[in-house]
Order: sequence, then C-alpha cells, then structure tokens
Amino acid sequence: MRLSKMLFVTLRDDPADAEIPSHKLLLRAGYIRRIGSGIYAYLPLMWRVLQKVSQIVREEMNATNAQECLLPQLQPAELWKESGRWDTYTKAEGIMFSLIDRREQQLGLGPTHEEIITTVARDMIRSYRQLPLHLYQIQTKFRDEIRPRFGLMRGREFIMKDGYSFHVDEVSLKETYQDMYQAYSNMLRRSGLAFRAVEADSGAIGGSGSTEFMVLADAGEDEVLYTEDGKYAANVEKAVSLASDAETSPFTSYEKRETPGTETIEKVCNFLKCSPTQIVKNVLYQTVYDNGITVLVLVNIRGDQEVNEVKLQNELTKLAANYGAKAIISLDVPNGEMQETWAAKSLPLGYIAPDIEDEYISANKQFHSQFVRLVDQTTVELKNFVTGANEAGYHVVGANWNEQFKLPELVVDIRKAKPGDRAVHDPSQTLQTARGIEVGHIFQLGTKYSQAMSARYTNEQGEENPLFMGCYGVGVSRLAQSAVEQSYDKDGIIWPVAIAPYHAIVTIPNIKDAKQLEVAEKLYTELNKAGVETLLDDRDERAGVKFKDADLIGIPYRIVTGRAINNGKVEIVKRANRETQEIAIEEVVNTLQQWIKTAIEG
Ligand code: ATP
Ligand code: MG
Repeated sequence: MRLSKMLFVTLRDDPADAEIPSHKLLLRAGYIRRIGSGIYAYLPLMWRVLQKVSQIVREEMNATNAQECLLPQLQPAELWKESGRWDTYTKAEGIMFSLIDRREQQLGLGPTHEEIITTVARDMIRSYRQLPLHLYQIQTKFRDEIRPRFGLMRGREFIMKDGYSFHVDEVSLKETYQDMYQAYSNMLRRSGLAFRAVEADSGAIGGSGSTEFMVLADAGEDEVLYTEDGKYAANVEKAVSLASDAETSPFTSYEKRETPGTETIEKVCNFLKCSPTQIVKNVLYQTVYDNGITVLVLVNIRGDQEVNEVKLQNELTKLAANYGAKAIISLDVPNGEMQETWAAKSLPLGYIAPDIEDEYISANKQFHSQFVRLVDQTTVELKNFVTGANEAGYHVVGANWNEQFKLPELVVDIRKAKPGDRAVHDPSQTLQTARGIEVGHIFQLGTKYSQAMSARYTNEQGEENPLFMGCYGVGVSRLAQSAVEQSYDKDGIIWPVAIAPYHAIVTIPNIKDAKQLEVAEKLYTELNKAGVETLLDDRDERAGVKFKDADLIGIPYRIVTGRAINNGKVEIVKRANRETQEIAIEEVVNTLQQWIKTAIEG
C-alpha cells in the first residue's frame, strides 16, 4: 500500500480524552477513531492488526479440533429467561442492550452466547457419539458497560472469540479445558505478549473452575496476586491467603464502654488502645435478587480485614433459592438514601453489633424481614474481642462468640487477600501484586446451562443426561490494544512483528530524486511479491516527517532509500531498538524474510 493513496492521518498531540498510552497512541497514529462512548471505528491499519490476531486465534483453535461458526447477535429474550439470566443482564447493572421489535418481541444484543449455543446443542446433539464437540466464532459483541474506557480495552462494541464445548462428563470437559489453556497460552505467546495465567472468579456466568489470561501492564484494571515460587497466581477477586495472626486481646472481661466519636476502626483502636485484629467489624450490605426481594446482609469481619465483594456476592447467590430467586441484581453498601427505604428506626451506624435486631427492617413484602448474617472465617477464632454496642458512642470489649454473641451459622471466606499476606500453599511465601489486563478467560461451566435449558444427550446405556459444557473467550480487540500497552516508546508504537499491520515501510526521503524513487518502487514491489507486507511512503513530505510517522505507527522495519543507494545499499532501521544497518539492495528481500521468520517463530 502507498501512503499517498491511504487514509493516513496522524496527530501531533495527544488526544484530550485518552488516558493510557496505548489509547493515545492508537488514536494519534490513526488506527482508531472514536464514534461515541465505547464505540470505535477500526481504520485500515487497525483492521489489519485485528485480522492478524484473529488469524492466530483461529489457527490455535482449529489445531484443537474446534470448529468455527457464526451465531446470531440478535437474541430472543425467551432463551435468556429460560437460563434465568434475562433480569441480571438487563436490569440495574446488567450490561445487555435490549430492544423491542415491531412484533413487540423482546430481544437482546449478544454480550455472550451460552443461551444460543445451548439451544443449538439441545436441538442437534442426541447421542454420546456426537461428543465431545467444540464450536467457536469470532464476532462483534455488545455490552452496555457502566464505564466504557481506555479505547478498545473496555468498549461497548468489541471483537471477541468465544467458544463453547460439550461433553459427556467432567473428565472430558477437563481435557478440553486443558487444551484451551494451552491454546490460549500459545495465542498470547505468538502475539508477542508477556502474560500470566491466573485463577479467576467465575462470576455471573457460573460454574466451577476458571482461568484468566492476564497481559501484564501497569494500566491493567485487574490486580493479580502471585507468589515468587510460581506456584500460585490469582485474580484478587478470587485470591485466598492466610491472614496475619490476631494479637492477644488486652481485655479479659466483658464490658460496655463509652467510646465517643469512634465510628471508624482507627478511632476505636486509638481510643481503646487495641489492635484492629481484636475488633469484630460489622459491615452492612443491601442486595436485590432477581425477583425484586431486597435482603439486608450483615458481615462480621476482623477489623484489619476488608470484605471481598465478589466472594460475598457468590455466597449470596448460593442463598438465592431461600428467597425464591435465582440470581442477584445488585449488591451495595447502603447509603443514607437507600437506608431510608427500609430502616424502621435510625441505625447505630459505626456502632453496629453482630446481634443487631431484625426490627430495624420495616415490615414490607419487598424486604426480607431478617438480616442474613455471615461471618468471615478468620473472625471466628477471635477471643475477648471489641465490637459495637448497637448504640451510638458505645462499644463492648472482652466479648466472645456464643457467650455474648451467637456465632452466625454461615461461616465463609469473604475476606480480601492482600499483598504481603502469607500464601496458603506455603506460608513462607508472601503474596506479591501485579497489574494485569484480562485478555482471555476460560471456564468450566458444568451443567448449569444444559440443566436450565434441558440440553441432554443419551449415553451408551441409553440414559438421558445433561451435557457438560465449557466456554472460552478471548478479547481480540482488547488483546490488540494490550500489545501496544506493553510495547511503545516516546516516539510511538512498537508492534510485535506477528501482529504488526505491515512488516516493513519503504521510506523515500526525497521523492523528487528519480534514483531514490526507482529503487524504492522496485523494493516495494519485490518485497510484497515475496510476502513481506510492505508500505511505501511516497508522500511529498520532508524526510523528518516521514520518519516520525513511521515511528509513530510502529512498523517493525524501515527501509530508507537515501544516500547509500549510490553504493548500491539501503539503510534498514529496526523499530524496536533503532539498530541501523546498510544492506545491499539485492539482499533486502532475503534479509527481511529471514528477520521476520525469526521474529514470528521465535
Ligand atoms: P471484564 O472482567 O474485563 O469486564 P469479562 O469477565 O466480562 O471482562 P468475559 O465475559 O470473560 O469478560 O469475556 C471474554 C473476554 O472478552 C475478556 O477476557 C476480554 O478480553 C474481552 N472483553 C470483555 N469485555 C470487554 C469489553 N467491554 N471491551 C473489550 N473487550 C472485552
Ligand atoms: Mg472476567
């Protein structure tokens, strides 16, 4: 491609609305253009990158016997109602765009495709002989993200590869999951990314095991906790650890104390001269289930620890059936306005005790009449602890479970693991922290969807069983931008060769020089013919401008037809390290072919 014929517009300055380097660079270098919040045009250079990433993804998927297909983006609401996800995905913080068509039918725009694929499977899979089966697609997904940002990193319309596998049992599912683990590792390695596979939370999609593939970068939205021995790595949402030991309580007998103005843990500690590890903190949450019932939740947790809201949400989801519901729609620490809707009298905020009475909840069918009480497991061992007295300005000290306060039946792990905590697998290891961009996520779904949607097969004995399922997603557009986030310098993007839009750019310093033009044209034609994807900068611009642009768009090899042509040579500059060498014109094609091969194959 000739730059003179291309839509080639670069910006000198950083666009105002871009925060992270990769977003700024993709805008400045003319790869993407913002159309609306979380909505981007992929311009020709970007489209080539996306196609290269897609091709790597496709090759790795096909190598595992997965088959490519294309599923509809318009999804009938009935299917989502069958799986029980319509409300969670369309109400409150749900991220599915939904619409009503001219026949008054409700539809959703596909954010993911479990419902569609399970419908296909239930209609078409009859027998164990058809299993295992794995279908995937590469397609635009729609998600009405609450906070679209960072360009392609969190868009409302983005490209994903999603695959779904079907099995007779868990053993077969685990085999495919393992194959996907390998395939995903291959995709990221081939795309030139530094990444880490981490244990992950399975979230609203449900199911048992799941692994996220994190590209390591400071701008990552996710926090990864890992140990240096390489044996543990998990998303902070999922991570477990050993809490530090609690200090021995200075209080030996149970007493109520006046503690004015101590509504925070820090203030109580200062006032009572105790450690936060001796305090039972009582945190109030409010959750709404998908049948509209609001449940008030009281969490007891050690004063020095924080609640992991993802773990809490998972525990509350397990309780959904107790309230005649299937899932959770929202989970909040209730602010003043929210408290007003249900509190029968004013709450002793900052001084709540584990036994706060259910009478604080107004009698109203919308609200479950009792608090759900959960205690974090590290809080159970505390002796002679400090906690609120259910009265503003008062705490109790020297309290014990099952003496002054009944220990809640629900003892759970809802504690946030943090850097510096000891590791569970080996307490001599401490958890370290890193930022990551989640580019892929693989799940063992089990029978969640097949049971909800009656997708069954007949086994060898002639019995009908629900299909076991797995699902595997990789964000193609997010992956492409992550590569930039990991690889750039002050002058622009440095694409990994395997996903660069072009391998090389022939830059003519002076297009008025007939000899320069001739050599450049010849190289341009020969390189492309030999499979070296090459751009020709034949614009009538100063050499300096051309060099700057080539650096900005990040093409791996720049070939300059400058003064050296008088000695039968051209200058080649490697974008990554600026290494410059003069190479005989007739050796350029071979040299580049060799370099590219080495760079791509490693
Ligand atoms: P996140 O936690 O970042 O919101 P997710 O857990 O919702 O992602 P999945 O449903 O597992 O993501 O989707 C699979 C992959 O699709 C993700 O690993 C990510 O690479 C990509 N992805 C998800 N949401 C977006 C988005 N809004 N924009 C771009 N890519 C996305
Ligand atoms: Mg995720």
